[in-house]
Amino acid sequence: MPAHPRRNAIDRLVRQKDGKLKLRRQLDKPVVLVLGTGWGAQSLIKVIDTDLYEVICVSPRNHFIFTPMLPSTAVGTIEFRSLLEPIRNCNPFATYFEATCDAIDPDKKVARCTGAVAFRDGRRPEFEVEYDTLVVAVGEQPSTFGVPGVAEHAFFMKEITDAVKLRRRTQEVFELAALPGTSEEDRARLLHFVVVGGGPTGVEFAGAQAARAPWPGRFLLQPWTRFEADFHQLLGSFAIQSGHEFRSAIHPYPAVAAHSTAR
Ligand SMILES: Cc1cc2nc3c(=O)[nH]c(=O)nc-3n(C[C@H](O)[C@H](O)[C@H](O)COP(=O)(O)OP(=O)(O)OC[C@H]3O[C@@H](n4cnc5c(N)ncnc54)[C@H](O)[C@@H]3O)c2cc1C
Repeated sequence: MPAHPRRNAIDRLVRQKDGKLKLRRQLDKPVVLVLGTGWGAQSLIKVIDTDLYEVICVSPRNHFIFTPMLPSTAVGTIEFRSLLEPIRNCNPFATYFEATCDAIDPDKKVARCTGAVAFRDGRRPEFEVEYDTLVVAVGEQPSTFGVPGVAEHAFFMKEITDAVKLRRRTQEVFELAALPGTSEEDRARLLHFVVVGGGPTGVEFAGAQAARAPWPGRFLLQPWTRFEADFHQLLGSFAIQSGHEFRSAIHPYPAVAAHSTAR
């Protein structure tokens, strides 16, 4: 019986003199190493012909996320699992390793990787992958645009874990606001949301959150461009119907201060 394709790849991990493991190329097929499991990587992995290429995927995230719907999961209108596709389901003949690529040697065509999950004592497996073709699809880090306090105090909206944290916290503040012993002053503070970055994601989050809020809340959005300002006009019309208050903040500092008090 032929070896399972995933098992086959692990069996070709050879220990080097320096103790590191290296995944050797197969002789019959060129190796395409794909870094990442986001939009770029997933679109390739789904369609690549694994009869012609051996596909190895390395990414710290073992699933693809349909990002346009992430804000809806943060407010609970869509369940998290609806947005996810395990990368192994995208192409069962590709080999996936949950790890980050730390360095690439383009001359030797080798990528150095470290396991994403650590043992209890902090050790992480390290290994190298030999490739013929390298596809780098590692995306970007979320930007704070230099707004002070955002990195320390704000919730981000990039990964499922970000949406989980935000959903948990907004549920907490809604429940706290709903308690009979909560004062009007505290309730107003709890229902005061500040969105730093009033682009499509920020506006969608604010709109969806407002639709769900048990009381009229206050949403402060920070636009960066004219394009984003147009979204605010849309929110303005929504506000008239819903009773929520939407405002734009140009100066970042009060916005972040207000956000940090809400946490
Ligand atoms: C909330 C939200 C809503 C969005 N809505 C839209 C929309 O409506 N329309 C639209 O066109 N775009 C939208 N985008 C933007 C879109 O998601 C990005 O443009 C797209 O994800 C970029 O694809 P990518 O493959 O370059 O990177 P990503 O999708 O970010 O994927 C990067 C991958 O690389 C992995 N990785 C990171 N570092 C390493 C490493 N060292 N080694 C190996 N792997 C690594 C990550 O774990 C991840 O799997 C939205 C983004 C967000 C966050």
